[in-house]
Amino acid sequence: MEIDHQASTVLRGTGISNGRNAGPLKFFQRAGVKASYTQTASDAAREWSRLEQACKESAERISALYQQALRTVGKEEAEIFAIHGMLIEDEDFLDALKEAVKDGKSAELALEEAVSRFSKMLEELNDPYLSARAADLRDVAAHIRRTLAGEEAINTHSSREPFLLVADDLSPSETVMLEKSMILGFVTFGGTPNSHTAILARAMGIPALVGVGEIDAIHDGAYALLDAADGTLTLYPTAEEQALFAQKQRRDDRIAQEHDRYLRGLMNKPAVTRSGHRVLIYANIGDTDEVRAALANGADGIGLLRSEFLYLGTTDYPSEERLFTAYREIAEAMEGRRAVIRTLDIGADKRIPYFGLPEEENPALGFRAIRICLSREGLFKTQLRAILRASAFGSLSLMLPMIVSLDEVRQSKRLLEECKEELLREGQTFDPELELGIMIETPAAAIMSRELAKEVSFFSVGTNDLTQYTLAADRQNPSLARLCDENREPVLRLIKMAADAIHESGGWIGICGEMAADLHLTQAFADMRIDELSVSVPYLLGLRGKVTECR
Ligand code: PEP
Ligand code: MG
Repeated sequence: MEIDHQASTVLRGTGISNGRNAGPLKFFQRAGVKASYTQTASDAAREWSRLEQACKESAERISALYQQALRTVGKEEAEIFAIHGMLIEDEDFLDALKEAVKDGKSAELALEEAVSRFSKMLEELNDPYLSARAADLRDVAAHIRRTLAGEEAINTHSSREPFLLVADDLSPSETVMLEKSMILGFVTFGGTPNSHTAILARAMGIPALVGVGEIDAIHDGAYALLDAADGTLTLYPTAEEQALFAQKQRRDDRIAQEHDRYLRGLMNKPAVTRSGHRVLIYANIGDTDEVRAALANGADGIGLLRSEFLYLGTTDYPSEERLFTAYREIAEAMEGRRAVIRTLDIGADKRIPYFGLPEEENPALGFRAIRICLSREGLFKTQLRAILRASAFGSLSLMLPMIVSLDEVRQSKRLLEECKEELLREGQTFDPELELGIMIETPAAAIMSRELAKEVSFFSVGTNDLTQYTLAADRQNPSLARLCDENREPVLRLIKMAADAIHESGGWIGICGEMAADLHLTQAFADMRIDELSVSVPYLLGLRGKVTECR
């Protein structure tokens, strides 16, 4: 649209969140990767080694983005980076790169050709899930391209003044890497409300407007009003428009402050339903740094520490000392509140090269989590010993993922006893009463819950996997999200079965999958007398408020 510098112009798009903000527009500049590069190379081995190194560094960057997204926007939205991590290790893609450099092409040309060929192939399959992977592949390629060019990272605008960011579109990586404190809002020319970028913006709580159509960069710096609630962007607003907008903002602020005050008021009060059932509000964390944020948002404890972070982003197995230090830090920071540490859940969507795990046809149904740990006793005992030792410094609990049988629990208990005996012999201290629990993530575990409940003190339901295995619906496949949303009943019945079983045995039950954060289900969980709900940090306060409103 032609925009007059003098007159106010209103552009329409789709608002992503209900926020409003005013400020100068700033056009997103992608890091200036050289558009031209040498197309041929005489030393194929050198080009391959450049590519290999660039892929390795990019994989590390993606893994860091995954962790960052986990922390800031939660597990479900972070999943996109797990997919990127898989794409960068795709053998067909890597083979195509290798073949191209063997043919005398430069690393850069090999990359461009492979990305264009693979993304075209994916787009032509006419499947929404696979077409989305084409955009992901381009996002992954941007990392490799930047690394090849020796660029550090995306230009995140070292502006000193907050601004409304304008871009044609933003990839998920670009969105997560932006310096959030400076961004008043996002405006994108294209994009849809369900794109990953939109989902990330929503989760980051930043007002955003997508699909406004192209805006000429000549308007960089122009003052504008972004109203995501009304779906409008007003450039060069008149004085009256600005006054009206400011009035709406003041009203929004008042409502937000009241809501915040209400939630903060609840923060240090136990979450109790109106009929008197107490629900512990715990946090899911994926790194030691998150403990502080969990406590600042009133977490009663940590319901799930995904210990994988200690294994990701390194090139070798972490030592017992490394694990112990991290767990001790958490135990001490929690000052007596419970922290549930889950042993390693690797495999399926989380792959770590140095584990040397074989390729599998169906990784989600394959060699993962407790299955790997029980087959590699050294790996498992290192974790058990570290958790036991750290238990001397606070209130830790130990949790086993992906259990399907009594035998797995009994084998784990035998190894735990061995570790205790070893530590006693070595004169090391630990909590002899360390609580042991299992995750209910498979229909088998729910069905066997009566027997399993006799072996452990608590259950924690991993609804992400429980849904996947109950409905036979891949949790990574966005085109099945609706199927999962519409078929919660079978999953809820399994949860109820497990809750009844563990309560009969005198134990307790929590829920740590994404369903725990779904406020439409809080009443159902209260009715089942669920003892604890564990959610990512941004959901803690809202959930606490919701529990107090339950019957
Ligand atoms: C789950 O499966 O619900 C869960 C909490 O574990 P993860 O998401 O780490 O597989
Ligand atoms: Mg799981």
